[in-house]
Amino acid sequence: MIVGTPKEIKNHEYRVGLTPESTQELTARGHEVLVQTGAGLGIDATDDAYRAAGAEVVDTAAEIFERCDMVVKVKEPQADERKMLREGQILYTYLHLAPDPDQTRDLIASGAVCIAYETVTDEDGGLPLLKPMSQVAGRMSAQAGAGALEKARGGRGVLLGGVPGVAPGKVAIIGGGVVGFNAAQMAVGLGADVTILDRSPTVLERLGIYFEARAKTRFSNTANLAECVAEADLVIGAVLVPGAAAPKLVTRDMLKTMHRGAVVVDVAIDQGGCFETSHATTHDDPTYVEEGVVHYCVANMPGAVARTSTYALNNVTLPRALRIADLGWRGALAEDKHLANGLNVCHGKVTYKAVADALGHAY
Ligand code: NAD
Repeated sequence: MIVGTPKEIKNHEYRVGLTPESTQELTARGHEVLVQTGAGLGIDATDDAYRAAGAEVVDTAAEIFERCDMVVKVKEPQADERKMLREGQILYTYLHLAPDPDQTRDLIASGAVCIAYETVTDEDGGLPLLKPMSQVAGRMSAQAGAGALEKARGGRGVLLGGVPGVAPGKVAIIGGGVVGFNAAQMAVGLGADVTILDRSPTVLERLGIYFEARAKTRFSNTANLAECVAEADLVIGAVLVPGAAAPKLVTRDMLKTMHRGAVVVDVAIDQGGCFETSHATTHDDPTYVEEGVVHYCVANMPGAVARTSTYALNNVTLPRALRIADLGWRGALAEDKHLANGLNVCHGKVTYKAVADALGHAY
């Protein structure tokens, strides 16, 4: 199969669909790989690195879309890219179609076979192609919070790990799923005094077994939340209620009880945020202050660490890309029902129920 990766064109997107290492895996199995010149520069991968992996480096995205059987990307195709998609061509990338009627209409019109990373499932009912980005955001959240606690950034001047003779900073993490677990690992590693709140007994038990005495767990109810938030130097919001907007668990009144210069990092901001006072920010201007509390609410946190994020993403997307390249999309999807759950639009039809329902398309 001919597989291609164009340079990402969405604003501030530095990740790339295939790393040179992934390219090598494809070419070693006899597939042809085309990479647009400069596609890897955001992760410090040069055209020469792709050539050394056996790729042909081409000048334009148009050439990729014209010649390739499968296009591997990171972000949903932008309007100019959608015009280049062809009937029967495989598009393998994040799509997030439910809130995006324009993109859905264009993908239907293209006749392409569109496989969305975010709806591929695994045996445990998880979303394995979303998980690495939650891991990245979770780990970053402790780092972003630690930085924002510095005086020069508006914080209250607390070092999370403390020093011998001075107590460590207090971190409250709301939601102990993938983001929360990874945030806790980093905060514990820094030496902070960490409490994780969740409302799932299974999650709390798993966290308790893993962290033992290195982190506390609390059931997430209003009283416990209010107590932990009031005491914390850093609160990390990491809740998810599948298919719904994030619940506003921390109210403005609770925020008023926090120390001046304390920090909140709302990772759940991409689902609307779990603090009443959150609004989305960007990497260019990540924080603002409300009620004396520094808010960090960047909606695409993994974009800031494009190199790590790209490698983490390739670790999970490549094995499936190889199956599609080896067997064709029909063969690969027939063999793997979890990969088949990724099919969102195919030959002019929406093939994913939640997208069809959200946008009123036939299914
Ligand atoms: P997850 O499903 O693994 O974990 C969510 C956890 O929230 C679960 O353990 C659940 O029990 C818990 N929860 C639900 N309601 C709760 C409540 N009232 N109190 C306490 N806990 C509650 O999800 P995840 O992968 O960890 O993602 C968390 C959020 O982070 C999602 O909104 C996701 O979209 C977002 N996210 C944001 C970025 C970013 O760049 N900002 C990146 C990745 C993920």
